[in-house]
Amino acid sequence: MTAAPAMTSCTRPTPSGRVYNFSAGPAGMPEPVLRQLQEDLWDLRGSGIGIMEHSHRGAVYDAINAEAHEWCRKAGRVPADWEVILMPGGATVQQAYLPFNFLPAGRTADYPDTGIWTTKAISEGRKAAAMLGAHIHVAFEGSRLKYTRVPKDGEMSQTPNAAYLHYCSNNTVFGTRYPTTPVTTAPLVCDASSEYFARPVDWDRHVMLYGGGQKNLGPSGISLVLVKKDFLATANPALPTMMSFAAHAAGESRLNTPPTFGVHAMGLMFRWIAAQGGPEALERAAIDKSGLLYDAIDSSNGFYTGLAERWCRSFMNVSFRLPTPELDARFVKEAAAHGMDGLTGHRDAGGIRASIYSAFPREGCVALAQFMRDFAGRNS
Ligand SMILES: *Cc1c(COP(=O)(O)O)cnc(C)c1O
Repeated sequence: MTAAPAMTSCTRPTPSGRVYNFSAGPAGMPEPVLRQLQEDLWDLRGSGIGIMEHSHRGAVYDAINAEAHEWCRKAGRVPADWEVILMPGGATVQQAYLPFNFLPAGRTADYPDTGIWTTKAISEGRKAAAMLGAHIHVAFEGSRLKYTRVPKDGEMSQTPNAAYLHYCSNNTVFGTRYPTTPVTTAPLVCDASSEYFARPVDWDRHVMLYGGGQKNLGPSGISLVLVKKDFLATANPALPTMMSFAAHAAGESRLNTPPTFGVHAMGLMFRWIAAQGGPEALERAAIDKSGLLYDAIDSSNGFYTGLAERWCRSFMNVSFRLPTPELDARFVKEAAAHGMDGLTGHRDAGGIRASIYSAFPREGCVALAQFMRDFAGRNS
């Protein structure tokens, strides 16, 4: 095997010798979950076979699969009249399948555009709509505001009798968040990728949530799809099986060979989320953690500028910039030397982005806030 390129040496500030990982995704996972996975990779529950090697139709995996679904319901407080589907592919796969399942010919779906991920959902939605003889309506044009905020109540142009309204509750790239569920008459479908189980869900207002695992729920390459049973019953029955949410639900999330390791990793994450106190507790923790960083921005006398308007700031992705792109670059480099990794903003947003999902430790936010104050003092 060829050796991987060596990492540049840096301080390892955590007690376990790892760095603070501010990556937007795949993101850091809780250390106890990683340790358990390490063990289970070798020998799952005393079977003498690791999780990656067990048959997906065997008794050991039956239990892993059933427990992952059960713990998902417990952790996220998913109501009994909703289906839980652990589906291969990331959030973008679900964006592509969504209209095929729920946008009938002649109907319109509304899509407010609040950043890269909704822009992609719209462009995928349009391709599907063209095949289906249906329509996508852009209900809000965030690009005009450089995506610095989400729509306010009453600001979206909504289609009467829309098949659904698709929105993204937390905009990972620009660092904005809907502070409350959007007001609409259409059934709501939410891309919850970067906020999954980190805020309570208004179940009565939604019909579907989906998201990739790699931000708040652990592994990449697998998504969590939650869909209300009566809405699922209205889905297009003529789809190829792998594209059908109903088929995945009926097939217990294993229509074909599922990503067994990812399902197990998510199952452990659901247990961890439940042990933290669920979405309510994780939202409180996120307000506290992001508040440490927003305080450092707001008390910097303009050295740091937040990219998002204050009333809709994300609790998961804290985005800001320094006075010049050169200072942005120096900030990222010096932070890395202090054991703080992954702070470069998305190429479309620029600046700095600190992603601090549910598993990200509070001490890492304390360390970054301190570093921000020191850096501003040395450079202003
Ligand atoms: C990361 C992300 C995606 C893309 O997820 P994949 O799993 O890579 O397909 C989509 N939407 C949002 C809001 C995201 O944060």
